[in-house]
Amino acid sequence: MKIGILGGGQLGRMLIQEALKYDDEWFTLDPAKDAPCSGISNFTEGSFNDYDTVFDFGKGKDVVSIEIEHVNVDALMELEECGIKVIPSPQIIQTIQQKILQKKFYLANDIPSPDFQAIQHKSEADFPLPFVQKMNTGGYDGKGVQVIKTAEDLQKLWDVPSVLESLVDIDKELSIIIAITENGESRTFPVTEMIADPKLNLLDFNICPAEIDEDAENQIRKITEKFAEAAQSPGLFAIELFLDKKGKIWVNETAPRLHNSGHQTQEGNANSQFEQLYRVLKNLPLADTGSLGFSGMLNLVGEEHFSGKVKYEGLNEVLKLPRTYVHLYGKTETKPGRKMGHINVLADSRQDLMEKLGQIKSMVKVISS
Ligand code: ADP
Repeated sequence: MKIGILGGGQLGRMLIQEALKYDDEWFTLDPAKDAPCSGISNFTEGSFNDYDTVFDFGKGKDVVSIEIEHVNVDALMELEECGIKVIPSPQIIQTIQQKILQKKFYLANDIPSPDFQAIQHKSEADFPLPFVQKMNTGGYDGKGVQVIKTAEDLQKLWDVPSVLESLVDIDKELSIIIAITENGESRTFPVTEMIADPKLNLLDFNICPAEIDEDAENQIRKITEKFAEAAQSPGLFAIELFLDKKGKIWVNETAPRLHNSGHQTQEGNANSQFEQLYRVLKNLPLADTGSLGFSGMLNLVGEEHFSGKVKYEGLNEVLKLPRTYVHLYGKTETKPGRKMGHINVLADSRQDLMEKLGQIKSMVKVISS
């Protein structure tokens, strides 16, 4: 099969890396000529936001998918009209691309997500403090999100279409990855805890399985069931969740694609999120997602103050550790905060896992030479 992926970053790279054990032809589209997928697939340099570029790229493929949601949806709709399979559906990508539509989708489908007001201009803001402002489009990795706590803070409001959302008193940030087939069959991975780096606002650690009680598990199961029903689309989706201090689960947002919170599935589960998306794209039986014990992931992120040719300090020491797996994304240049790779770790207990992750974090640094 000819499979085309919009985006040529690390998510696509790890998908192709996993799927090369099967027989398919892989095509990727990315504006950066040295994108992580450029050397391992039939690569087209171009914009996935441009209608003609996306349409031309998709023509002649058996299935087109994404590894980033900020793509030209009109071109995907046209490709679908021409009989090309697009996974996930352009409609669900469009809903997720715009925070306002995404929040309305949760509301319409009785999926618990924090209360909100949708605004076009800051002058319309009329929402109880404290709240979080999220830009309707263009937000990524915590950019385009700000907390408004006091009346004074209101001056900081961005004058762009946004969602104003209640501030959740967060106990834990969680994620669940769900795969949905064309026939509507679905399967989830175990719930993962995401622990963020407060400085970079980027995901730092994953811990799987999450330490949550049965009640939280049940709330999450109901959310995934409702989501699978409402999405009306095959695909692999990462639903980011908050567990608040009273034990209630809220949906933060959904990514209609592979996700950083699922990287530890590469060695931590019977099959990875990458294998699972492959199964969905090919309409094959879904893979076993069971966990093989406690697993975790540490992002390798470009250190502050270092830009240029990347150097991974301490990596040889990490490679000596048992049940520790290094994944690099083929990026030659580091920048502060840039995701360059990750390290997966398996352990027999949660405490063991936390200790190992902490130890590895102090051993390795992403700097420039
Ligand atoms: P992005 O898509 O840019 O990652 P998110 O919507 O996930 O943005 O927000 C980034 C971070 O901001 C979240 O991981 C969380 O820590 C915080 N955050 C977002 N929404 C809320 C909220 N309603 N209440 C409290 N914290 C929030």
